[in-house]
Amino acid sequence: MATFLFGEIIFGPVSSRRLGVSLGVNLLPLEKKFCNFNCVYCECGLTADAKGVARMLPTRADVAKLLREALEKHRAENKKIDAITFAGNGEPTLHPEFCGIVDDTLAIRNEIMPSARISVLTNATLLDNPKIVEALKKVDDPMLKLDAGTEETYRAINQPLTDKSLSNIVEELKIFEGRFIVQSMFVRFVLNGKSYDNTQESDVGAWLNFLKQISPRKVVVYSTARDTALGEVEQICHDELELISARVRALKIPVEVV
Ligand code: SF4
Repeated sequence: MATFLFGEIIFGPVSSRRLGVSLGVNLLPLEKKFCNFNCVYCECGLTADAKGVARMLPTRADVAKLLREALEKHRAENKKIDAITFAGNGEPTLHPEFCGIVDDTLAIRNEIMPSARISVLTNATLLDNPKIVEALKKVDDPMLKLDAGTEETYRAINQPLTDKSLSNIVEELKIFEGRFIVQSMFVRFVLNGKSYDNTQESDVGAWLNFLKQISPRKVVVYSTARDTALGEVEQICHDELELISARVRALKIPVEVV
C-alpha cells in the first residue's frame, strides 16, 4: 500500500509526464493525506480522519512566501519552470484559503516567472462553490478528474467521502463551458471480491457520452505509474490507452496519453 507524502509546502521541481518541469504547491498537511475521495490508485495512501487537519494546513502567507523564494531562486540560477502545479497530499480546493492563494500565485508568477503555467489538479467535487469555480477559471490549466462513466465504477474507483454523485459532478463541469482539461485514470482492480475495469465498454461508452456533454478543451488519459492505495491495482498498457484515446479524438476533442 502506498503511503507517499510530500514533505514540503513548495516541492520540486519535478519532471512531470503531463506538465514538464513543475514546481509543486501542496496546500494539504505534510503529516497526513486530506481528501474527500479515497481513490484506489491514490499514491498518498488511504484517507484518514480529519482530526487536527485544520491546524496542520499551511497559511496563505506561508505559501506566498515560500513560492516567492523558490521562484526567485530558480530565476537567479537561470532555471526555467514550465508549470506551478497545485497537487500534493490530497485535494487542494479543500484548503479554506484556496481562492486567495490562487490570486497570490497568479500575482507572484506574473512578477517573477511569467512564462510558467499555473495548473490545479482537482477532483472537481467542490464546484458547487462559485468562489472555487471562479478561482479555477483564473488558472491556465484547471485539470479536473473524471475517471468513470457509471455511478457504480465511480464509487468503486474514487470511493467518495462526500455525497457528490457522478452525475452531480458532470453537471457542474458544464459550468466551465469547455475551458478546462479532463484527467482520467484507467485501472483494473478487485474490491471486496468484485472486479472493476473502467476500460470496459459499459464504462468507456458512458464516459465518452459525458465528454460530449462537457466538451473539455483537452483530455489527458493515463494509468498508474507508482504504488497505489489499494494494493493490487493493475496498470493499463499504453496500447489500450491509445485505443480509448482514438475514440476521444473521433469526437474532435484533443487527447494526450501519458
Ligand atoms: S482525489 Fe487525488 S488525492 Fe484524493 S484520493 Fe483521489 S488521487 Fe488521492
